[in-house]
Amino acid sequence: MSTEDEGSGRRRPRLAVFKFASCDGCQLTLLNCEDELLALAERIDVAYFEEAVTAPDQGVYDLALVDGSITTPEDAQRVRHVREVSRHLVTLGACATAGGIQALRNYADVAEFRAVVYARGDYIDSLATSTPVSAHVPVDFELRGCPIDRGQLLEVVTAFLDGRTPDVPAHSVCFECKRRGTPCVTVARGVPCMGPVTHAGCGALCPAYGRGCYGCFGPSDSTNFPAFVPLLRRDGMDVVRLLRTFNTAAPEFDAASRKEELG
Ligand code: SF4
Ligand code: SF4
Repeated sequence: MSTEDEGSGRRRPRLAVFKFASCDGCQLTLLNCEDELLALAERIDVAYFEEAVTAPDQGVYDLALVDGSITTPEDAQRVRHVREVSRHLVTLGACATAGGIQALRNYADVAEFRAVVYARGDYIDSLATSTPVSAHVPVDFELRGCPIDRGQLLEVVTAFLDGRTPDVPAHSVCFECKRRGTPCVTVARGVPCMGPVTHAGCGALCPAYGRGCYGCFGPSDSTNFPAFVPLLRRDGMDVVRLLRTFNTAAPEFDAASRKEELG
């Protein structure tokens, strides 16, 4: 793909997509943009994207999208290189922004896992923890979700191309229920819901189908766990288990689950 606008002589911004420990779902959200992808491709040069580009182009990039958490010494080194060659770095999804489901290892003994799972554990070089990219290098923007929302991804990419701050609200899922007119599942039917402490972005998908939110977008900007946790307990929820999913290592969820564990 050419790096110049045809005829204008202007260099198009170079985009790179990098994968670390993840299921790939968030980077594939970019390919799922379908119609918008063609319009986007006219504005950017997709220089490095191993799942989509046949000849990835090494070099420096204007915008790097990073999917996945850091779980090996090699990845910790690689993400530092990604930062060095990228003007802007945006992390995508629960793995890259909070360590992902694989951060459950942070509460256990990784050496013990290795010994149980692998015949030759000494071949496996993994860190004791799974951590977000921001624990290793400065990050310009964190886009949450498991997986991320394609509309929000397009907003983030176009915002960086236009040199403005992405319009991605950090309020809770409850706001989205109100906006789409979904009756509160907790108030109406007594269904436990993590919406009050979960970051908006999905359009309140689960409550729209009558079930409670389980927090896949991670913490919102105004969590109040001291008030919220007793309500979950009242509704018979295993609070530690509820908080220890895709965003278990997000500081707010991590602190609340550790506090609950101590009793
Ligand atoms: S259903 Fe959940 S997300 Fe929606 S308003 Fe009620 S508590 Fe909030
Ligand atoms: S309602 Fe909650 S669990 Fe469901 S998609 Fe949205 S953030 Fe994820």
